[in-house]
Amino acid sequence: MFLDRFKSFKSYKTETTPCRIKLSSNENPFDLPQWLKNKIGEEVKNIPFQRYPDPTSKELKEVIADFYGVKPENLVLGNGSDELIQLLTIIIGNPDQPVMYPVPTFPMYQVSADIVGKKKIEFPLDENFQLSREKIDEALEKKPVLAFFASPNNPTGNSFDRELIKYVADRGVFTVVDEAYIDFSDKEDFISESLKRENLVVLRTMSKIGLAGIRLGTLIAREDIAMEIDKTRPPFNITYPTQVIGKIVLSEGRDEIKRQVEIIKKERDKLLSELGKIDGIKVYPSDANFVLIKVHDGDALHRALIEKGILVRNMSHLPYMENCLRISVGKPEENEIFINVLKELVG
Ligand SMILES: *Cc1c(COP(=O)(O)O)cnc(C)c1O
Repeated sequence: MFLDRFKSFKSYKTETTPCRIKLSSNENPFDLPQWLKNKIGEEVKNIPFQRYPDPTSKELKEVIADFYGVKPENLVLGNGSDELIQLLTIIIGNPDQPVMYPVPTFPMYQVSADIVGKKKIEFPLDENFQLSREKIDEALEKKPVLAFFASPNNPTGNSFDRELIKYVADRGVFTVVDEAYIDFSDKEDFISESLKRENLVVLRTMSKIGLAGIRLGTLIAREDIAMEIDKTRPPFNITYPTQVIGKIVLSEGRDEIKRQVEIIKKERDKLLSELGKIDGIKVYPSDANFVLIKVHDGDALHRALIEKGILVRNMSHLPYMENCLRISVGKPEENEIFINVLKELVG
């Protein structure tokens, strides 16, 4: 009775079938180098585990601010950007004011709105998975207070039209630009816009560039806005180990991360071009660390790939994603195996 609201609620699901090659969660395929892990080991050993962590994450924030070229006062840290998405859904506007986001997109916007009990305005992307002014205008008529745009978008891989995102912010909607995949894109980011405006914030995450395991997301906003949002976050949401590890990796490991990101971008482009040569597969452009393909029978191919030890994300069941599979960029040798197996199965 207390939880009746959740009887038909579907929680966020990911693929967990164990497979030799995991290309399903848009993680960085490369682990940290051993020298960096040794360093982390030393520092983690010295953590006073009986103590609460620094509630302000002061030292970590200084390193992250430097990483993004902003000030520590511009940041709010989250236990993954998932936590920040949920926090924004709770705090922006009143409970009766709706949230807008395009579909298909990252499911957490919908999941968060449903948990909080906010109304959702879902509007479709066009046939190229791009935002359309017309659909945005229709959504705006329903008076949303909050908008989410993942750009580059997950699961489609493309970046959205900047001007249309700014257009939504110009209409007075609190606009969240989720840049989880921006490290793999050559397009301009929204950081400078977020520092100018009172109703536009940027989300970043360490998850796609090598630290999915420590859960560390960042919100970037104007100082006054960041300060208000920061008041509403759980006080010790960034664990002691996360603060210690994040600080080391983003300072001493920075070059290594940049090196890995460059390899992933090259591998993505290679994957796009190889996939483009296979008959019977439609490949969508990607600015991210994954590629989206449409095939004849998505469920069957997904199953066949698992039998060959390769796990990709089956998107077939989502609206507008019929027979689509999402493939995260793996290590060079994994991508090669994937392409060869795919040719075998589809050809
Ligand atoms: C993966 C992803 C996230 C989640 O990030 P965490 O920091 O791991 O919670 C956020 N937004 C988008 C669009 C994503 O694809």
